[in-house]
Amino acid sequence: MRKFAFALTLSLLLTLCGIPLAGCGQSGSRTMYEIDCEFDGERVAGTEKVSFFNSTDNTFKELKFNLFANAFRKGAKYSPISAQYYHQAYKWGDSFGGAEISAVRVDGEEVEFSIGGEDMNILYVPLKKEVFPNERAAVEIDFAADIAKVIARTGINADTVNLANFYPILCGIENGSFYECVYYGSGDPFFSDVADYTVNFTRDKKYTAAASGETVSEKTDGDKIISRYKIKNARSFALVLSEKFKVMSDKSEETEILYYYYSDGTPDKSLLCAKQALEFFGDKWDKYPYKTYSVVQTPFIQGGMEFTALTYIGAELDSAAYREVIVHETAHQWWQTVVGNNEIKHPFIDEGLAEYSTVLFYEAHPEYGFTRENLIKSAEQTYKLYCSVYEKITGGTDTTMTRALPEYSSEYEYVNISYVKACIMFDYLRQTVGDGKFFAGIRRFYDENAYKIATPESLVGAFERAGANSNGFFESFYLGKVII
Ligand SMILES: [Zn+2]
Repeated sequence: MRKFAFALTLSLLLTLCGIPLAGCGQSGSRTMYEIDCEFDGERVAGTEKVSFFNSTDNTFKELKFNLFANAFRKGAKYSPISAQYYHQAYKWGDSFGGAEISAVRVDGEEVEFSIGGEDMNILYVPLKKEVFPNERAAVEIDFAADIAKVIARTGINADTVNLANFYPILCGIENGSFYECVYYGSGDPFFSDVADYTVNFTRDKKYTAAASGETVSEKTDGDKIISRYKIKNARSFALVLSEKFKVMSDKSEETEILYYYYSDGTPDKSLLCAKQALEFFGDKWDKYPYKTYSVVQTPFIQGGMEFTALTYIGAELDSAAYREVIVHETAHQWWQTVVGNNEIKHPFIDEGLAEYSTVLFYEAHPEYGFTRENLIKSAEQTYKLYCSVYEKITGGTDTTMTRALPEYSSEYEYVNISYVKACIMFDYLRQTVGDGKFFAGIRRFYDENAYKIATPESLVGAFERAGANSNGFFESFYLGKVII
């Protein structure tokens, strides 16, 4: 996601407003989803076939899926929208959605599934026999997601239909077990392993659809369009529909860049910005691995949101912030999609690297009017202001970075630690070890964690292995000892 850490200070607005695993190139060693579903204007319903691949050393008797759509149900314990944005998001009044599971089959036979977890957020599927390492289990789920009227990652609004997190998705695996997470309103409460997707999606032909993945076929059947999408090595699959979309496209090597918009006076500049960012990060970190990249203008209160090969860009932003969000969300294709992390436990990893990648982009593109020095100075000012505000309110500031989402007391605190402080950390590290070791460290971190799950420790280890003696440096930031 993109919160306004820099935008805040840049524009002086003081309102707070993602090598493969061994053999990862082959689908033989990844989980596969085949989803057939239809959006009828209010709900998405269909069947999802999952071929789970056990890439761990553990055995599993049960699979666990996140039901993110259930966070929008009436009576949910955790709201998917933070208190700060609740009324803006539900501007048409309260509205509810929810997930429904009507049947689950394992190897073709119906099984007794259950829905539970801390907030009815997990689907538990018992397997008929244990799945050993390197084995597969075949599960078929008949599901539906009612879509609430709300400006959110998943929701119907006046201009678009945002369709992320609508299907049951396997929980990410950590230390050999599925990690259950609830839908916290602050931050991005997501954690999943990469998988291959085939999605057959039916919609009314009045909608233009932006989707993760390339369109491999499309046919019209009466008033409906059925599109077939494919993408490999994706952390999730998302769509946005609109009757208002116009589309512009460009190419960068083999990647088609698509820009979906409905209110942009200079769409060519937005598309150019996305292309420049994609190419810059492709040179800096690694070649962009997907065949398409869709940048989608859509109502979204918190700036923008990243999904594999598709990003939301908040339609309400002014032009400078709009482009900054395009750059930030594009950086997430490397930091969140390719290099994954548990975004509940360690949100600073992908947000800090996306923020610092944005600084690097501006450093290399002076035509946008920002310099590295000014951006870091702005970040320092923002962070110092946060510290003094918190000092006054609470009598002390907790500046530890290795904190999970529920341990932050507000979005303001979360943004300052996970975005601003993390960005400052990367710049200070660069100043300390020099450009050579800094970029070697990040490249090493990328190579070691591509299509896997990175941790704060793997970040330290990558820099150490790249010859940067950085253990004490990271520790002073992680534990909140450093004074900025
Ligand atoms: Zn972000």
